[in-house]
Amino acid sequence: MIFNVASLLTAREGAARLMSIEHGEIKTARHRFYEINGPVRMLRTDRTVLVSASVSATVSDRCSRCLAPAKLKIISEFEEEFEPANRDLMSDRRQSASRDFDPALVIDARNMLDMTEAVGQSLTLTVPLAPLCEANCAGICNICFTNRNQSACRCDENPIDPRWQSLAELGMRTSNSNN
Ligand SMILES: [Zn+2]
Ligand SMILES: [Zn+2]
Repeated sequence: MIFNVASLLTAREGAARLMSIEHGEIKTARHRFYEINGPVRMLRTDRTVLVSASVSATVSDRCSRCLAPAKLKIISEFEEEFEPANRDLMSDRRQSASRDFDPALVIDARNMLDMTEAVGQSLTLTVPLAPLCEANCAGICNICFTNRNQSACRCDENPIDPRWQSLAELGMRTSNSNN
């Protein structure tokens, strides 16, 4: 996810390039994203390159219900501004005190713009907090720990524990007396 943007840096303000990410792969501390694909638009502003991207990716995670490995498709859209190390290329006469730029958002001295970290951060934010292997995952029985996707258990069919029976009846009487 590294692009040479020399021609964009020397172009006039407002110039744009359309690039794309194809079959990208990123490993972060927590996830491995692969099959990263999508268009990337780069716009030269007065002092930066504004990158807008819309990428899809696959990430391996664990199902939050049954704990089986789950492959998730995610989509992420983001915009980031990259600042060139070679500021003179942009012939900016209004050179103001430079902001402290995130080192992940600096175009290096060879005019290479590396989007890897920006894409990785953006994808990480898109990973669902409670991923599912399938939308209708039946989960693990919290009584016998059977994975209900693989085999049914009969815990639901068991009658109510007699120790709770009188409490259930009491609940019914209370709700009736309220009417
Ligand atoms: Zn599951
Ligand atoms: Zn069970």
